[in-house]
Amino acid sequence: MIPDIPTRKPSPHSADDTILPFEVAALDLRGRVVRLGPVVDEILTRHDYPLPVSKLLGEAIALAALFGSSLKFDGRFILQTQSDGPVRMLVVDYATGGRLRACVRFDRKRLEEAIAARAVSPGALLGRGHLAMTIDQGADMNRYQGLVAIDGGGLEAAAHEYFQRSEQIPTRVRLAVAEELRAGQDGPTRRWRAGGIMLQFLPKSPERRRGPDLDPGDAPQGVQIPSMPEDDAWVEGKALVETVEDIELIDPDLSTERLVYRLFHERGVRVFGNANVAAECSCSRDNVTAMLMSFSQDDRDQMVEDGRISVTCEFCNRVYVFQPGEVEAGESGTLN
Ligand SMILES: [Zn+2]
Repeated sequence: MIPDIPTRKPSPHSADDTILPFEVAALDLRGRVVRLGPVVDEILTRHDYPLPVSKLLGEAIALAALFGSSLKFDGRFILQTQSDGPVRMLVVDYATGGRLRACVRFDRKRLEEAIAARAVSPGALLGRGHLAMTIDQGADMNRYQGLVAIDGGGLEAAAHEYFQRSEQIPTRVRLAVAEELRAGQDGPTRRWRAGGIMLQFLPKSPERRRGPDLDPGDAPQGVQIPSMPEDDAWVEGKALVETVEDIELIDPDLSTERLVYRLFHERGVRVFGNANVAAECSCSRDNVTAMLMSFSQDDRDQMVEDGRISVTCEFCNRVYVFQPGEVEAGESGTLN
């Protein structure tokens, strides 16, 4: 088979902070690749979480960018975990147009113990709980929420489970995060990079999507659950995407086009237009004022410290400072 001729020259280097959709028509595969440079560096550097937490959050940011950019909606896509590991909660918020923000809540003592015991894989940090994916299209629209269990596996495992159970779409996701060290005049500089690839099997006839057996959980021990063999095209696609190495996802000198060509050139691969992402928080003084106005005067009085109220945005660490008199009932006329 003759591979498709690209209609434009592949970029020689990684185009950072982009998501590139692609298609392998011969195998009914669709996918996308996310490459994050300054965006993930800005978010992770600003938070300055302990290293393993930064890495986990970087993976979640790459995953949210892959999912969020694949959905057609106007609003927010929120990926959130809640679990019993040292990282209790993790939130990535992807707003239409590719604006990303993210934060984590973790238990410092348990994290230190986990680091000392070298149990810092994403699965170990998360523990058990659930991953929720929410599409929020504004106050008067229905919120859509999908939930999947996190069971000691990482975010990749949770994503596979989600697509298999909720969407019945065979899906493979690979995520990678690392700090890039560069020699500079004042010594080496560190910069976070992240990348990910999502591959989905979307044949026209749904029966070809038959997945591996979903264990119903009630079979007596030792009983083999009969499973349908997976479709050959999906077996091939899955095997190819599983060969992707972490370095290929984050290497600034390997472009996304070259990466997908490397993987799928024998079958022919077509890439579509890039989408861009940016690190941008939606907090504002007006939003914070409105939030404070929604509290009772009593609650606001209790927030006064050293003669002022200060509110820190958990996503971007921006601090908003108010004089107590500034947010009194009746002042709402200044808000729109
Ligand atoms: Zn903010």
